[in-house]
Order: sequence, then C-alpha cells, then structure tokens
Amino acid sequence: MPFAQSINHSQALKMIQQALAEKRLDVEHIPVVNAMGRVAAADVLAPIDVPTMACSRMDGYAINTALFRRGDRVVANSEQSGTWRLSLGAAVHAQRQTAPVLCGEQAIPIMTGGVLPEDADAIILKEQVELTEEGIRFDQLPSRGSHIRPRGSDLKAGQRVLKANTPIQAGMVGVLSSLGLAEVAVYAAPKVALMVTGDELVQPGADCGPGEIYDANAPMLQNLLQTMGCQVAVLSPLGDTEEAVRQRLSEMADAACDLIISVGGVSMGDKDLIPEMLAELGTVLFHKVRVKPGFPLLFGRLGGGLFFGLPGNPVSCYTTLCQYIWPAIRLLNQQNMAVAQWRAVLTHEVKKSHLRREFMRAHFDMGHDGLLQVSVCGDQQSSRIESLAQANCFLVLNESDQDLSEGSSVLIQPFAAWRMV
Ligand code: AMP
Ligand code: MG
Repeated sequence: MPFAQSINHSQALKMIQQALAEKRLDVEHIPVVNAMGRVAAADVLAPIDVPTMACSRMDGYAINTALFRRGDRVVANSEQSGTWRLSLGAAVHAQRQTAPVLCGEQAIPIMTGGVLPEDADAIILKEQVELTEEGIRFDQLPSRGSHIRPRGSDLKAGQRVLKANTPIQAGMVGVLSSLGLAEVAVYAAPKVALMVTGDELVQPGADCGPGEIYDANAPMLQNLLQTMGCQVAVLSPLGDTEEAVRQRLSEMADAACDLIISVGGVSMGDKDLIPEMLAELGTVLFHKVRVKPGFPLLFGRLGGGLFFGLPGNPVSCYTTLCQYIWPAIRLLNQQNMAVAQWRAVLTHEVKKSHLRREFMRAHFDMGHDGLLQVSVCGDQQSSRIESLAQANCFLVLNESDQDLSEGSSVLIQPFAAWRMV
C-alpha cells in the first residue's frame, strides 16, 4: 500500500492527529492524592459548601457589634476615652463543635478556623486589643463581617470545581480533598510498549565487547514516557533479523497497547528491517519527515495500536519522541497538541544550510537585561548524547536555509514542557 514519504513537520503532525481521531483512553477512578499530572475524565461538582460553617479567618476575638451600636452600658467607658472593654468567654478553637456558642455581652477568644459564635458578626484581631484584668480593651470597633469566612465563601455546593479534560495540578488535589472527595475519574494512563533494536546493544551493567555499545535509549525513553504520564512496558531488545522482528511485531499486533514504540532500524541500512516488517504485519502511514534530527521517523498502525519507529541515534529518538509522540499522548488525554514555545535572544551566530526544520539542543537562561537568552549545546551530531544532558530546551529553526545572527529573536521549547501537566 502506498504511504506518505519525506513529508514536512506539520504534515506529520496532521497525520498523527487523524490517526488518533477515533482513539479513546479508558476512564478509571483513582485516589485524589495520586491524581496530580492526570487528566479529569468528568466534571466534578462540589458536594458541600466550603467552609461548611461560618468561621474565623484569624486569631482574635468574636464579638457582636450590635451591642456597641446600641450603646449598651455593658460596653461602658466609651464616652470617656473612646475605649471599649469586654469580659471574655470560653475560647473557641478549630475543632469539632459540641455545643453552640454565643457571645452575649462578652468577647469570645477565637482561633483561625474556629466556628463563629451564633450571634457574632465580627472578629477583632488579637494584635488590636490590650489584655486587662477583666478581659480586653480596644480603641476601634471592627466593621461588621470583618475577618469572618462566611459559609460557602470559598466553594458552594453544586458549583463545578473541575471541568472534564482539565489536567489536575497539586492545587486541584487540595480543592477536591477540601470537598471530602477521596477519588476522582481520570483517563487511564496510555499503555506504551517500548523496544530497542540492534545486534550491537548490551545492557548497562554487563560487559561490552568490541563493536558493542550500551543501550542508552531504553532507559532514557522510559523515563521520558513516564514523565509524560504513560504506563510503559519495556520489552527485551530485538536482534536485527527478520525472524526476530517478524515474531515481535506479530506479538505486538495482539497486545492491548495504545502506542508501540520501536527504536532503531528505520533507516537505509541492510539491517533496518522495521519499515518493511510494519508494512507486512500492519500499516505504514508515513516514513521520513524532513526534520533534523529524526529524518527516518516511521509511523503507522499495528493491531489496535499506533506504531512509532524512532531512529536509533539517542538524540534522534529523544527529539522525535518529544516532537511526535508527546502530541499523540496529549491527544489521547484530550489535550491540545501544541508544544509550549517561548522567545529568546540568540547569544551567537547559528549557521543553517539546509531546508529542513531543525531542533537544536540548547540551553536558555535569563540575561542581565531580564530577557531569555539561548546558546546551542556544542556539536549537534545526532550521535552526541551529551548535548542532551547539557540542554534544557530545543532551539527551533524553521524550514528556511537562512543563517541566524547573534542577537536574533528565536523560538525555544523548554524541556520542562514535556510532561502531562
Ligand atoms: P539505527 O537507527 O538502528 O541505524 O541506529 C543508529 C545509531 O544509533 C547506531 O550507531 C546505533 O548503534 C545507535 N543506537 C541504536 N540504538 C541505540 C541504543 N539503544 N542506545 C544507544 N545507541 C543506539
Ligand atoms: Mg540498528
């Protein structure tokens, strides 16, 4: 079957979006405390008011200002000195209330969060009174309602507090918990199968003989995918033989995965068997994208899952995972697929002699003028894994072949953006 070849970046994203149009993640109910970084699968309405009862916002004294306004004698001496005096009742703390409390003609010491006495209409702050033998003395009458948190002033029962398809942050974990909710409905973490390919690969910790190299990609990509909120199964590395690849892809066609990711073996080498095997056992949707690094990227379907074949060079697979698989994960979670982009000032000249979009590994920080500045992290060969460890962003160069001069305003994509929330 014919498939798209050597397409550009936005065409690749469009095809990924089309392939995902019908896909939906399951919904699961999880403890609220574990919901950070997940995406709400349904609206949540407040089951109760917060606070559930009027209470004090500060440490102080609850009083009934109506008494003063009537000019009752119980609050004597005001005529002479402009000073108010009250005796004290038993204190109210932030705890379960066993019996209703009234101020009457007294001031009730009250702590932050303490339930407001039934007849109180203001709190006077601790620092605004003077303690006397008889109680307290103060010069200024607080206005009605001061330092009181009315019932439902934060959240009202029935109000929508969480909208479906919204990512859940720590603050929302707090809101849901304040409503007494212990569980929340979220999209199930995308199930991802990750496999590296290559006869030369050896696992870190084992001996590495001549011609062999340590597998850097599986550990790196596993971490990246987990940060993106995926449930990752790392499969054993695949040898570069037709039998091995055919058998593994046949198994994967029956596995219940949302995404199947292979690394290596998608280029022009004799042992780059993945494109051919995907065409045989699944469907190739596109092969090769005019970007740098990551040109040989392969995309298609296998069984019920979407298949990404990433190039094996560490920088290429890291970059293509960020640029193409992250948008797919976002779409699965009903999020938009746009990557956060900021502007920064280039600290040095950058030469560009090709017409592909390029994602350079770069480092940004804040310059003396308070603006973001960015510098490329050394040699940009896709085999140079060290550039990844130094970098904190991609510097994005568009499809033009223009060099960029020092001081140019450029687009960067902070690595910190590649998480679910
Ligand atoms: P390939 O895409 O399979 O042609 O691999 C391109 C280059 O990346 C080769 O030099 C491979 O040895 C290297 N490579 C492939 N897979 C890995 C891996 N898992 N870890 C480190 N390097 C790799
Ligand atoms: Mg290989």
